[in-house]
Order: sequence, then structure tokens, then C-alpha cells
Amino acid sequence: MASVTVRVPAKVNLQLAVGPVRDDGYHDLVNVFHAVSLFDEVTACEAAGPELTVRVEGESAGDVPTGPDNLAVRAAQALAERSGRSGGAELVIRKAIPVAGGMAGGSADAAGALVACNELWRLGLSFAELMEIGAGIGSDVPFALFGGTAVGTGRGERLTAVPASGTFHWVFALADGGLSTPAVYAECDRLRATGEAAPAELALSAPLAAALRDGDAKALGLALVNDLQPAALSLRPSLSRTLDAGRGAGALGAIVSGSGPTCAFLAESAAHAAEVAAAVETAGVCRSAVTASGPVRGATLAE
Ligand code: ATP
Repeated sequence: MASVTVRVPAKVNLQLAVGPVRDDGYHDLVNVFHAVSLFDEVTACEAAGPELTVRVEGESAGDVPTGPDNLAVRAAQALAERSGRSGGAELVIRKAIPVAGGMAGGSADAAGALVACNELWRLGLSFAELMEIGAGIGSDVPFALFGGTAVGTGRGERLTAVPASGTFHWVFALADGGLSTPAVYAECDRLRATGEAAPAELALSAPLAAALRDGDAKALGLALVNDLQPAALSLRPSLSRTLDAGRGAGALGAIVSGSGPTCAFLAESAAHAAEVAAAVETAGVCRSAVTASGPVRGATLAE
């Protein structure tokens, strides 16, 4: 039976500016995404019947739904509907991206399923068409296809590449248990309503753009900003100890990744990243720490 495997990166948000809640319940965002070398693999296998099924492998497989709610299944279903195909396939997801960790793992799997099924079913849909279908599944799906470093506006799904030079070295402190993205946005709204947090300006940060353009890790570390961080810390106060441990180990920047609870630390080099990872693990402030680099390409067919 034929199969196609796609590798899809996690993302970290270098700037996440959150506007007030809109009438449709979403928030306007200025969201600088950066794809990092922490990958899920999605394999689409030919199936005898018309069903779409999914199997999930990896440490956190038990936390991922295996029915029609799985974002990879929803993406494959949407692709089948768009192309008028009956849609049989078995999807196998090998998860390395933390689940509900603020690194868009579910969106990565959706993007992987779009690329893999487009190939398996020989549909020949364009990248732009896959991006459009992806945006219908979730705001972070188009970036998992796009990769690199990009700014998303609107709900975060309208993407423009941000010029960046060099490679940045990262450490991700993975937490026990996830944080629900809607709950973190709701907490952000609550903190603003009570005056405990203020809305940011919805514009790409000039110091951040300059740091990326120049490949200047020190300046990038200082420019990292996440409007959801106060809300994530309010719901999970122990994360401030995690951030402190990374700062104490000399990280150039320390930030909650997206809606958390994963914490991201920027390091000077790959060797420094390994040192920071060892320090946060030894401090006992996370489940485990992994190193990665960015930017990397979006969803890509595996060799
Ligand atoms: P984001 O950063 O985009 O807000 P996240 O990284 O915090 O998302 P995900 O790992 O994408 O969170 O998962 C959010 C929820 O989506 C999970 O709790 C899970 O129930 C559900 N889900 C559906 N499909 C998947 C999938 N393929 N992988 C992971 N989670 C999935």
C-alpha cells in the first residue's frame, strides 16, 4: 500500500500582540511566528475503504483525540470535500511537539495531513489552496505550511514573511499538562477588564524586526514579547520559576510560548542551548527540556 510522510515544525511566537476581543469572539493579533526544529511526522497511508482513521504514537499520544476531532482528520476531511474525493486514508502521527503546549502541535498535524493527502490522493492542489483550506481549520495551520519566520495579522492567518538572517538556538521547557488556549485568552481579557494588564499596540515591533534582519540573538532576546504571558502565569504561577531558571542560566530571552505552558529560552549558540536545557532540567522546574533551532521550513515531504 502506498504512503506519504510529511515532517511539520512547531512554532514559537516571537511577538504576540493581542488586541481587544472582536464581535466574532476572536482577537485581532499581530503574531510573529518562528518555525523551530521540533517536528511531528504525519504519514498518510492508502486505505481499502472510504474511512479516514488516525493513530497517534509518542509519549503524549494519550492526550490526543483519535476520532473526527483530531485536527489532522478534520484537515484531510476538508481536503477531500474540497476536491470531491471520497477520502479514504489511515493517518499516523508521530508526536514530538507537546500537546496543548502553545507550540501549535495540532495545527502542525493538520498542515501535515493536507500536504500528505494532497500527495497520496494525487490531487495537485496548489500551496495557496492548501493554505486556504488550512485557515478554515485553525488560525495557526497556514503558518505550519509556510514555515520560516512570518508575521500573521487578522486572527493570525494572513501571513507575510519577515526577513531574518542566521540561525537562532532555542531551549523549550516542556511542562506537565497543557493549558487550554481559549482559557488563556479569556484570562487575558479578564486581566485587562480589571486593569491588571493593558492591551498592546497592534504593530510589528521595530526592534524585533531589526534583530531578525541582523541575525542579532542578543537584541532578539530583549525584543521577545507575549501579551498572553501574564494570563498564562496567572493560570500557572509556577511558570515564573521556570522562566527565572532559564534567565539564571544566562538565556538571552525567556518567554512563555504562545498560550503556554511551554517556556522558550533563546541561547547564544547550540552549546549554550545545551547548557541552558541542562540547567532548567536540574532546577526541577519542568518535565523536560529540549533544544531546537530556527527558522526551519514548513510542512515538507520526508525523503
Ligand atoms: P496553539 O499553540 O495553536 O494554541 P497548542 O499547541 O496549545 O495550540 P495543541 O497541541 O495544538 O495546542 O492542542 C490543543 C488541543 O487540540 C488538544 O488539547 C487536543 O485535544 C486537540 N487536538 C486535536 N487534534 C490534535 C492533534 N493532532 N495533536 C494535538 N492536539 C490535538
